[in-house]
Amino acid sequence: MVEAFAVASGKGGTGKTTTTLALGMALAKEYDVTVIDADTGMANLLFHAGLDDVEVTLHDLLVTDTDIAISEAVYERFGMSVIPCGTSLTAFAAANPAQLRAVVSTLATETDIILLDSPAAIGSKSAVLPIILADRIIVVVQPTVPSLSDGLKVQEYARSYKTETAGVIFNRVRQDESVATIAEQASRYFGGPILAHVPERDVVRAARRQGEPLLAHAPDDIAASAFREAAASLEINDKTANDVANRFKSAVIPEQPWKMVFDGLPSGELQRSRTEASVGDTLLAALESGLTGYMILEPKSAILTNSDAQAVITFEDGIPTVAYHTGHNVGGAAAIDALTGTTVTHIDVYAVAAHLLARIHRNTGYRVEPTMPARLLTSSAHLIERTAQALPADHQSQSAGLSAVESFLADPERIETIRAEARADAHARAEEWGLLEHLDTTDSDTGE
Ligand code: ADP
Ligand code: MG
Repeated sequence: MVEAFAVASGKGGTGKTTTTLALGMALAKEYDVTVIDADTGMANLLFHAGLDDVEVTLHDLLVTDTDIAISEAVYERFGMSVIPCGTSLTAFAAANPAQLRAVVSTLATETDIILLDSPAAIGSKSAVLPIILADRIIVVVQPTVPSLSDGLKVQEYARSYKTETAGVIFNRVRQDESVATIAEQASRYFGGPILAHVPERDVVRAARRQGEPLLAHAPDDIAASAFREAAASLEINDKTANDVANRFKSAVIPEQPWKMVFDGLPSGELQRSRTEASVGDTLLAALESGLTGYMILEPKSAILTNSDAQAVITFEDGIPTVAYHTGHNVGGAAAIDALTGTTVTHIDVYAVAAHLLARIHRNTGYRVEPTMPARLLTSSAHLIERTAQALPADHQSQSAGLSAVESFLADPERIETIRAEARADAHARAEEWGLLEHLDTTDSDTGE
């Protein structure tokens, strides 16, 4: 038997990779489990599983006509078979994502459960592939309005490709919060049960730093127990290996990596270009002028090593929106994390018409919590406070309390709008991505 799950969320940093490995280890007690890092553009499972020094990765298997055997990229770790993906953009560019189907279908004949750690965004073709390929998705969300809204969008995308929701995990729940009410409300909108509430725990980050899955690093922690509970509540369906193989028939064209998307940033109008720039002053100026556009921040290390590492932060009406770090190849919160501790020496600020940023902003996987740049890159309480005050109502963070989430979930019309938009988006983009034949068209006029 085999069932393939994609672990998905709309947003980066919600804990997909953490969840993939935790569920994998818990399920491995009973089943033969294979974990694949299908986040090919922004792989990080290797860091979570202590595999960052391995030679052969999924990237090598995705090269057309490769003579590398799948088994060479399979590592037996923590009771699971783990297929990490590399982090090189060159390897990404050389990889043909269509090969993922061959890899998954071959592995499907040898294992009970496949877990695909999936990309954050649903705004790119390579990000929807694991969702198409999987039998069902496991949605990882944080108890915030943006995260739930993104989780619902992922669910609609998956449904558009006939992939249902197996369950939802609330992760990074703060201990002073009771999410019972919102979990109950949320379960009405998700196609599967709420599998667990996993608390925000320092030990989870410590595990990541050690390169160990949480269940190996701190098996007795309450977060580990919550993941085991989630695994136990997951009902596994019996599938034949063929079903999995057949999920994904046609060849698909490689997606541009994120670096290229950012290289393709609309050129905009240069507002400011400073060496020895102060990040705080620049963020404040952006806020005060209501900048819609982006900043390119160049860390000192980049200049010293002559590398092209840069970070990009985009803005909507002065509010930080999306971030990406080319050096570390990470987006969202991780991109801001990657900037902390480095000295930013040069900042260019560009203004751009809002609609030109829409494509990048739709890739919500790289969104940052709006006060995060101010909090992590400056020590200006004034700036943090001003940013928080400038936020529109639906930007409220978890710290604004759960009442915002409750009122969001109590508004079925708003949720239906989000879902309808996501469905429409999935259909519109399927054409762009050449994935039309995989769409679920059963509710369309043709009846098929
Ligand atoms: P994703 O794969 O969705 O981007 P990760 O699993 O890499 O997310 O998690 C992002 C960061 O958040 C990591 O540093 C991870 O250790 C941390 N994290 C994930 N879950 C928790 C949790 N329950 N408590 C504390 N930190 C967490
Ligand atoms: Mg990840």
